[in-house]
Formats: sequence, C-alpha cells, structure tokens
Amino acid sequence: MNSRPTILAGNWKMNLRRADASAFADQLRALGPKAAQGAPMVMLFPSAPFISSLSDQLRHTEVLVGAQDLHPESSGAHTGDVSAEQLKSAGATWALCGHSERRHDHNESCELVAAKVNAALASGLLPMVCVGETLEQREAEATESVLAEQVSAMLGACAGLSAEPAADGGLTWALAYEPVWAIGTGLTATPEIAQQAHGFLRQQIAATLGEGAARALPLLYGGSAKPSNCESLIAQADVDGLLIGGASLDSVSFLDMIRRCGS
Ligand code: PEP
Repeated sequence: MNSRPTILAGNWKMNLRRADASAFADQLRALGPKAAQGAPMVMLFPSAPFISSLSDQLRHTEVLVGAQDLHPESSGAHTGDVSAEQLKSAGATWALCGHSERRHDHNESCELVAAKVNAALASGLLPMVCVGETLEQREAEATESVLAEQVSAMLGACAGLSAEPAADGGLTWALAYEPVWAIGTGLTATPEIAQQAHGFLRQQIAATLGEGAARALPLLYGGSAKPSNCESLIAQADVDGLLIGGASLDSVSFLDMIRRCGS
C-alpha cells in the first residue's frame, strides 16, 4: 500500500511583492490541519526575501516554506548568494535543487546541482530535486536516457540521499519530474506521459537505492499543472504531488488545487 503523502508545492519564482505574499499566506492559514481533512501537504517556495516573514506567518500551520535555490558553500565571499544555513535560519525547511530555469538560465551542471543537494542535506534542509527533458530531447526519444543521466549523476554524488523515511517517519527528500517543454507553456504532460516518466524514475531509484527506498520517495510532477488537470495527474499511481508555478500565484486557483487533490 502506498503511504506516500500527496504534496502540492507552489513555486512562485520571481513573482509577488511582500504584501501579496502575506495576503496569500493569510488565506493558507485558514486551511486548518491537513490530517483531519485528508488534505495534501502544502509547500510554498517564495522568493528569498520573503522566506523569513512567510515562515513566521505560517509557523503554527502545516504549510511548509522552502527556498528556490541555494549556494553550495555554507558562507563566504559570494555576493548575492544565499547559503543553506541562512535559509534554514530564516525558516526554510525545503529547497528546490536543479530547477530547469536554474540549469538553463545559470548554466547549472549536474555536478553543481549535486553540490547544492549535499549542502542542503548537511544543513538539514530537505532537497526537492528537479529533473526533466527538453522538447528536443523528447522528440529525439531521449527522455529516458536524459532522466537516467540526471538521476544517476545526482545519486552518484549525493551519498546522503536516501528515500527511506526519517527516524520520525518524515520525508528526507523528494524528486520532481518537470519536462522543460511543459514549464510555463500551457502544454501540460498528459497523465499517461507523466506516469510513464514517473514509473521510469521510480525504477531508477529502486535500482540504486532499493525497492523500499523507491516506494517511500514522493515523486512530484511539474509543468503547467492547474485546477483543470490536477486531478487526472494526481490520480496516476506514481504521481505523488505537483510542483506548480503559474497556477500557484493566484490563491484562488492554488486553494482550488489543494481542495481537488485532497482524498
Ligand atoms: C515550475 O516552474 O516549477 C512550474 C511547474 O511552472 P508552471 O506550473 O508555470 O509550468
């Protein structure tokens, strides 16, 4: 039986102002305890300046706040960067690592992504690692080889990654399948495409970390998920959650997705 939680994570990217973020958090505060309602686990990934205030605002709720990126070193002369320790002390509990916009806009290599995953783990931030193929790679029928390469580069360099539940039964990391052609384009992967990729990713994890580990790992889908398609995506056996960009910027649609994806 699958005991993985359903996760709905909003990636706000470089959007919203402090007042918008705060008003949004107020609406999430009204959600109440998730366990009682069978509601999904909810995470928000705001821009770095708002992590601290949102964490404070959501402290007594079950909504988790994460960072969109981090620097692999813990401190030093890296103007404009933020370390895992700083994010943790600001209240973040999760960190996105290897989002395709970072891989492409900032030339982040698999090695750098792995270093960020290790830095997150060392500081007690839980990494949500993003992988996915471009349109060219999909059209060249290279999706599985691209995913295998991204996953094996990460697992090979991140000995601390384990999909076994933590001692307290909690999560230790998550993997997000985000086809680049679907991000921000409105071209959502069909549920069948998402399931095929997720099934493949779970097999890859099983082959490296073992069946138990693969069974425990939450796999999120990201790429133009919205209220009208979230239920069919989440209904797939290996789709455990959604990483949501555009549709998470509007509290009405994000709350609608939270309601639709509850059990
Ligand atoms: C994302 O950037 O993680 C994402 C999934 O964006 P969107 O939902 O807008 O495609």
